[in-house]
Amino acid sequence: MENNEILTLFNKYLSKKRLYLTFARQQIAKHVSQQLVPFHAQHLWQQLKEQGTGLTTIYRTLELMVEAGLIRQLPGGQAKYEVIYKRMAKEYFRCEQCGNWTPFPSNEVDGELAVIADRMGFSIKTCSIILTGICRQCRLGDKVSEQSNFQQQHPGSH
Ligand SMILES: [Zn+2]
Repeated sequence: MENNEILTLFNKYLSKKRLYLTFARQQIAKHVSQQLVPFHAQHLWQQLKEQGTGLTTIYRTLELMVEAGLIRQLPGGQAKYEVIYKRMAKEYFRCEQCGNWTPFPSNEVDGELAVIADRMGFSIKTCSIILTGICRQCRLGDKVSEQSNFQQQHPGSH
């Protein structure tokens, strides 16, 4: 489903620029949409070169996908990209008092982590960050009912 959406949007963007969704571009976009974690252009090439897709074509297509706002290039100058379209949030603030999970925008954090991981020779498969604390509503005392719920569920916690 998401594949088709990315392909559809990419196709729309290309026709706006009077470019065609060639077979190579289509294959690249398909593969990109399956990347759940940041990926190297070279890695994509490994998967696609058998069907005759050149590295230059991959770089150009990735550039177009960046322009289209579907992916972005990560800092670090290593031609590493990640899908940003409809990215599933895996980074949250969790309120200890009311139990709310609030996703936070984490593109910058992810970019930084990817750079650090690269530097340490570590290949990231998944990433999830949960920061616990007290949410604004609880800090301001707006969530009195949930707060008392919490205390009922946790008798004896001081
Ligand atoms: Zn709260």
